[in-house]
Amino acid sequence: MKDHFKDISQIIGEPGEELSFSGEVTLEPVKLGEELIETPSPLHVDVLVSGINDGVIIKGNAFGKVRLRCSRCLAKFDYEASTSIDELATEDIESVAKDEVFPIVDGKIDLAPIVYQNLMVEIPMQALCADNCAGICPECGKNLNDNPHKHAKEEFDERLAPLKKYLEENRS
Ligand SMILES: [Zn+2]
Ligand SMILES: [Zn+2]
Repeated sequence: MKDHFKDISQIIGEPGEELSFSGEVTLEPVKLGEELIETPSPLHVDVLVSGINDGVIIKGNAFGKVRLRCSRCLAKFDYEASTSIDELATEDIESVAKDEVFPIVDGKIDLAPIVYQNLMVEIPMQALCADNCAGICPECGKNLNDNPHKHAKEEFDERLAPLKKYLEENRS
């Protein structure tokens, strides 16, 4: 069984009963829009799962590295993300569909979508690899962090030189 599935069968519908899970959880990559979101290493998850009449409450937090693409230089980098978790899960599939609660299947909750959904809210839409990311060279498209450079103005003048010469020679 993958480590993000947790057996909570003994506390479903048992108010006052609790189970806690603390440790590393390995998440498979998820697609967010066009981008595949990966976690380069397992995330640390601490949750307390409490029984309620029609399911369980999952409360706690999660943190770890999420691999993102810098919105300025487009390079991938590891972002330190953390989130709190406060969710409900139920075996009642009808309310899973309409109330945005998580399903309990075969007495188990899947922490992966619970962690991802909460983590995604904390991740900036325009993530930067560094506050002072130099971005991409507008002239040649190279990453200016890896390869800092400037294009000399002379280069530009040089390319125009034949035209300048032609215009001078043909001036009436
Ligand atoms: Zn960057
Ligand atoms: Zn350049």
